[in-house]
Amino acid sequence: MEGNLEGQVALVTGGSRGIGRAIAARLAASGAKVVITSRSAESASAAAEEIASAAGAFGAGSSGTPGGGDISVEGVACDQASAEACTALIKDIVARHGRLDILVNNAGITRDNLIMRLKDADWTDVLATNLDGPFFLSRAAIRPMMKRRAGRIINISSVAGVMGNPGQSNYSAAKAGLIGLTKSLAKEIGSRGITVNAIAPGYVETDMTAELPESGQAKVLEAIPLARFGTPEDVAEAVAFLASPAAAYITGTVLHVDGGLAM
Ligand code: NAP
Repeated sequence: MEGNLEGQVALVTGGSRGIGRAIAARLAASGAKVVITSRSAESASAAAEEIASAAGAFGAGSSGTPGGGDISVEGVACDQASAEACTALIKDIVARHGRLDILVNNAGITRDNLIMRLKDADWTDVLATNLDGPFFLSRAAIRPMMKRRAGRIINISSVAGVMGNPGQSNYSAAKAGLIGLTKSLAKEIGSRGITVNAIAPGYVETDMTAELPESGQAKVLEAIPLARFGTPEDVAEAVAFLASPAAAYITGTVLHVDGGLAM
């Protein structure tokens, strides 16, 4: 599958660390020009440089792609809770690169608490980043995709959006909403050659999950048939598949990358 995204332009939100960073590295290794975002321009640029130099360290030179092309990753600031920032970002990418082929709505936050203690801002902040952002970005991205009659939108939902999770009513609502957005948009724009799919990761070891106490981790592990936590690369491989020509006839689906946790 390596090298099959040559010439394509991909936007991966929240690519400065964790799952988004692994997705960006994987799509870049397949030949896509990748733009990553974070709320901080410094974090996004630093991550972009590190992805490119790590690709060099694995033997492909500063170029990185197995096909011999250059690894191209750039980091930009965009707080996706802002509609204006999202619209401006898509316009800027299309103005500079001439196209946008792949949108990966990955950025997300948590503000966990039991619902009786959940502050209004904990609810609105999580909904704004995790659901409003993907809506703003998808709305802007489908214009250039429709012109080309091709495009891939991949939304990173969560097992919490499928099963619910105590202490995560805000997060679960946003992630379940993202699945609804995925299916509705898939129906709206399938005839224009654009596919829209969601991935529901289970428990993946990143900054987001680092704070779960050891006792909590052991409990989660017991419920995972494959008996291990996921890695960012496990999710990145699923994204690379959904972005590839091999997934041309798949739309509106929710791909579980969770070691069997949600079944
Ligand atoms: P992470 O390590 O906390 O990284 C989150 C990324 O999103 C960072 O790059 C962060 O950059 C960015 N971000 C946060 N708010 C943003 C905003 N308003 N605008 C733009 N970028 C923003 O998280 P992760 O674990 O990799 O999770 C990635 C995605 O997978 C999330 O949607 C998460 O809900 C989902 N997921 C994760 C797990 C898991 O177990 N880790 C499981 C299921 C689903 P800045 O902070 O610099 O802005």
